[in-house]
Amino acid sequence: MRFLLATRSPDKLREIREILAPAAVALLSLADAGIPASPEEEAIEAFETFRENALAKARYFAARTALPTLADDSGLEVDALDRAPGVYTKRFSGRTDLSGKALDLANNDLLLARLEAVPLERRTARYVCAAAVAFPSGRSLVALGTSPGLIALHPSSGAGGFGYDPLFFVPALNATFADVPPGEKHRRSHRSRAFRALAPELRG
Ligand code: IMP
Repeated sequence: MRFLLATRSPDKLREIREILAPAAVALLSLADAGIPASPEEEAIEAFETFRENALAKARYFAARTALPTLADDSGLEVDALDRAPGVYTKRFSGRTDLSGKALDLANNDLLLARLEAVPLERRTARYVCAAAVAFPSGRSLVALGTSPGLIALHPSSGAGGFGYDPLFFVPALNATFADVPPGEKHRRSHRSRAFRALAPELRG
């Protein structure tokens, strides 16, 4: 079966393709399927949980395209910030004028500033990913994956991963997700845990 992968993030697209490669499902990007960005997409992720946002995204694009559709909603929970930024992770900096790497940098700078007085041992955090699938029949499912770590005191210079990865230190790797090859990240990432849990549901 062919699935639409409903994300406008090239980083998520690459990672989900890598993670689902062993599942041997055909994945079409929004660009492959010729689905232009529309202003109403901005309003889809209006919920307070990753699960609801991922399901809303998958259902929206399944209804728009009549294709079985996969979606990811993900973010960071930082214990010293009462689990913020959570579902607001992408919008954390409030910089609506930025996108891509510039937005990631603004988000990372704000996270470091908010944690300035917090010592390393209290900078515990987790990435969370909700992976959803919606079928044109109306059936839908969602799976959650988490990955624990610490927010580093300074960004690493590693060039892997994306977003908050230069700050996301994983004690079991003794490195941030930006420092390790993709396969190492996928062995423990929130995204791989969520999509691998969902994968058996995608067969036939
Ligand atoms: P979404 O597009 O609303 O799901 O936003 C996800 C936010 O979480 C973005 O700011 C991403 O940069 C961040 N994020 C999610 N997963 C990861 C990851 O694996 N590495 C780094 N940042 C991530």
